[in-house]
Amino acid sequence: MICKMIIKAPEVASTAKTGQFVNLYPESKSTLLPRPISISEIGEDTITLVYGVVGEGTREFSKLTAGDTIRVSTPLGNGYNVQKEAKVSVLVGGGIGVPPLVELAKQIPGEKIAVLGFRDDPFLVETLENLGVKVYIATDSGRVGFKGNVIDCIKAEGISGDYFYSCGPKVMLRALAAYCESVNTPVQVSLEERMGCGYGACVGCVCKTKAQNEKGYEQKKYVKMDQSF
Ligand SMILES: Cc1cc2nc3c(=O)[nH]c(=O)nc-3n(C[C@H](O)[C@H](O)[C@H](O)COP(=O)(O)OP(=O)(O)OC[C@H]3O[C@@H](n4cnc5c(N)ncnc54)[C@H](O)[C@@H]3O)c2cc1C
Repeated sequence: MICKMIIKAPEVASTAKTGQFVNLYPESKSTLLPRPISISEIGEDTITLVYGVVGEGTREFSKLTAGDTIRVSTPLGNGYNVQKEAKVSVLVGGGIGVPPLVELAKQIPGEKIAVLGFRDDPFLVETLENLGVKVYIATDSGRVGFKGNVIDCIKAEGISGDYFYSCGPKVMLRALAAYCESVNTPVQVSLEERMGCGYGACVGCVCKTKAQNEKGYEQKKYVKMDQSF
């Protein structure tokens, strides 16, 4: 089940950058750690999150109703560096990596193409189309759109652009980075890890980059403590 949650959080909305995420804190004592969810849309005083219900934490969130409160962190992660000069941007998303592409699509100028990969059931397609994005869908089952992965879809449809952005499973990001290198087109990928605190303190969420391979992991920059709404 895919759910959408709009949270009134003026301080979060005013500082959030496209591609960042927030940590949501479940009330249940059995869920010790916060649950990271990408910011799908940034409003004037709200943030919109779109998430799949997969376990106890997301099940608890899905039961909240309008007017309930939830603890949410400040925006975390680095976010995308929006390239204003690109004429055609290609947004590539896989599964739960699709939600942050919505705010990105709002913020990038020029022509926008999205290539979205899902196991079976697509979501957020209409939202992106309503923003003027030309959407291609690839599903593992072939029930909707192209049967296969996003890279094969890009090749089969002859999709190209001046700049690629992506969010999704690491295996997809790796394949897309290799593809973009082969066609000499820059790509920005949003890396994420299963995480603990989310602030860089426990070093659970760090991703090793090629540049950091020799130096070891680098901690994310410190982000101020979370706040309740
Ligand atoms: C930076 C970041 C951004 C994210 N953004 C989104 C988003 O926008 N929408 C969304 O639906 N999900 C997103 N996720 C994944 C989301 O955090 C997990 O699905 C959620 O924490 C699961 O919590 P739970 O208590 O419901 O499930 P749990 O009981 O903790 O886990 C249930 C199942 O989900 C798997 N799972 C849990 N966390 C992850 C994870 N991070 N990646 C892959 N599998 C996981 C577990 O292995 C287990 O099989 C994001 C994760 C990260 C790290």
